[in-house]
Amino acid sequence: MVVPAEHALHEAIQVSPLILSDDVRRQKIENRVAKMRLSAATARKIQDVFISEMNKGIHQQPSSLQMENTYIPELLDGTEEGLYLALDLGGTNFRVVLLELAHGAPIREEVKRYYIGSELRVGSAIPLFDHLAESVSDFVISQGLQDVELPLGFTFSFPMIQHSLDVGVLVTWTKTFNCPDAVNKDAVRLLREALDRRGDTKVKVLAVLNDTTGTLVQGSTLDHNTAVGLILGTGSNACYLERADRVEHWETERHGEREVIIDIEWGAFGDNGVLDFIKTDFDRENDANSLIVNSFTFEKYIAGKYLGEVVRVILAKLTKERLLFVGDSTSDSLLTPGNLTTDLVSHIEQDSLDGGDSNTKEILAKFGIIPDEDDIRIVQYVCEVASNRAALLVSICLASLIDRIDKEQVTIAVDGSLYKHHPRLEGWMKQYISLLCTSGRKFKLIHAEDGSGKGAALVSAIAHRLKKRLQ
Ligand code: ADP
Ligand code: MG
Repeated sequence: MVVPAEHALHEAIQVSPLILSDDVRRQKIENRVAKMRLSAATARKIQDVFISEMNKGIHQQPSSLQMENTYIPELLDGTEEGLYLALDLGGTNFRVVLLELAHGAPIREEVKRYYIGSELRVGSAIPLFDHLAESVSDFVISQGLQDVELPLGFTFSFPMIQHSLDVGVLVTWTKTFNCPDAVNKDAVRLLREALDRRGDTKVKVLAVLNDTTGTLVQGSTLDHNTAVGLILGTGSNACYLERADRVEHWETERHGEREVIIDIEWGAFGDNGVLDFIKTDFDRENDANSLIVNSFTFEKYIAGKYLGEVVRVILAKLTKERLLFVGDSTSDSLLTPGNLTTDLVSHIEQDSLDGGDSNTKEILAKFGIIPDEDDIRIVQYVCEVASNRAALLVSICLASLIDRIDKEQVTIAVDGSLYKHHPRLEGWMKQYISLLCTSGRKFKLIHAEDGSGKGAALVSAIAHRLKKRLQ
């Protein structure tokens, strides 16, 4: 039986038709990228797989979803007051943040960025953490707060195993970091020891978290229905409020918690092969060109670090197969991995939206390509197909979360430049999520900027309150 929702979903996920002067060429190109276009039935299959992987992960069975307990069992309650710090490591910028709260809401924020040289990123742990501690001290002393006891939330946006709210063991470095002797160590302990070696402040590290969790908590100050935190930036991940009785991995003593934030770590969704049915030869090449191959399967389909590369790989293959830029000599620049960044995909998508071609031409000119009308249409089509697939994949997972959460209305707090700047993702996601949700629950997507900074300071305020209550 074809349910009306399935028909609507089928209609909604169609991309704009490719119209070329040569119909045979059009057909060949459409066939070549056909596997990038997921059908409504495939979308439902992915949804089933995601739900199954979530259930396995939460029950501690083998799964590509870590479903990590963050040990954050509640959000702000409006009683939080005073000064809180955050240290944000793992995003594009390394920063220290000071937040002043009154009645659980931020009333003042001070932020300072610090630089981490490449020799510290890929050296040993002690110099790196000494540098982190030095930055915290420098900031705290510059604020004249060296004698004040300051709770700190440590945003450590790397995969970790959490044993409690303030113990996070590094599983592996990612992005531009690689200090091997820190792997399998508790990042909080490394930071505390470095702060103790200095001994010039009274900073207390109370919580370790990642940017996703900070985003959920930050979002909850903007909209009290917030129950999901989503990152669509360099990488992608999400977390959500889960019923505490469903969570098996819980190492600390329980205190009647009703819910807890679960960090899904969905970047790795499919690393065990469960998503192989959607993998294209383009994805295989994107993976082969990445820093750590055979990992972060899902992130490589959707996140900012990779979306441009997916587009580049497709364009390069079409060029080599003499379906694109046939009148022009092949551009070496376009054939080089990493050369087409995701911001360029956004600019080309903007042209498609406007019915124009100025951004597309300008970008191709930088690659030394002078395109004809058909080339422009093909490039725009490929950007749309790749972006649309990313929007659909993210929406499939978000719809599953909305269905899972026991709330009448669910707000999803989103941070990250891909979401913020891509001209069509948000619109597609709104449409697809509502078609994919089976519960018919109401939802909203909101921008929650700076979850990794502000959000972490808020988490330290929650940790501080919990600590006082349980003492
Ligand atoms: P991070 O995720 O490192 O904390 P951001 O949220 O700012 O930082 O995300 C940066 C990433 O967002 C970049 O790596 C890039 O892939 C992507 N990005 C930046 N600008 C744009 C844009 N205009 N459109 C789409 N993606 C973008
Ligand atoms: Mg970020």
